[in-house]
Amino acid sequence: MNSNPALRPLALRRDGDALLIEWSDGITTRSGWQELRRACPCAACGEERKRPPDPFRVLSAREIAAGPLQPVAMKPRGHYAYQIVWNDGHDTGIYSIDLLRSVGLAANAASANPPSDSSKN
Ligand SMILES: [Zn+2]
Repeated sequence: MNSNPALRPLALRRDGDALLIEWSDGITTRSGWQELRRACPCAACGEERKRPPDPFRVLSAREIAAGPLQPVAMKPRGHYAYQIVWNDGHDTGIYSIDLLRSVGLAANAASANPPSDSSKN
């Protein structure tokens, strides 16, 4: 997907409720925790996304105790991925550099152009 193998994050840091990444090509992306979690590539989250939303889903005690969703750790996995550990205990998502980049670019685009009714998908 990514045709530029040299593209890599130079710096990752927390910025309020988001992850700020400075990239080697000079672009900075800002991805909200919710956006990152929605993009979680693990099998369980893939299954979850395929299901219709459950209006009767209740928060588990653990989710309530954890408070607003946020990562507690981001561990490098080789040179091309990060494992994100969330405060609700979810830790099976390995985010490739490409994925972090695409989530970040989408988040940047969304904040540059606030969503309008005509472009829903
Ligand atoms: Zn997941």
